[in-house]
Amino acid sequence: MEGCIFCRIVKGEIPSHTVYEDNEVKAFFDIAPATPGHTLIIPKKHYENIFDMPEELLLKTTSTAKKLAHHYKEKGYGAFNIIQSSGKEANQDVMHFHMHLVPRHDKDGLDLWKSMKKGVKPDFEALKEKLKLE
Ligand SMILES: [Zn+2]
Repeated sequence: MEGCIFCRIVKGEIPSHTVYEDNEVKAFFDIAPATPGHTLIIPKKHYENIFDMPEELLLKTTSTAKKLAHHYKEKGYGAFNIIQSSGKEANQDVMHFHMHLVPRHDKDGLDLWKSMKKGVKPDFEALKEKLKLE
């Protein structure tokens, strides 16, 4: 897609620190990492987010995240957050599907749950009526 920074990385127009790639998927270090080793995994073809990703490519991208997590674990990184944001309201910054693989250790200073737990008390029964997948 014209102007998409990740499409330009796939084409080699913008350099990246690539740690894995095959015909469909590319993985490279986030230029502004949350922790050392913070890696982005993307499909080489442009899809905006979870809503337009073909099922098979989504599975391929996810299994690449798992493959990298296992590989990084062998290299001494024992814990990860895997984050995928779909939509601007979810803080998706680049509109090309991507997964963040963020290596964690106990003294890295990140506390993702602190920012996510806002004490929301939803009506679980009403929500279940609305959202239950039949
Ligand atoms: Zn793109």
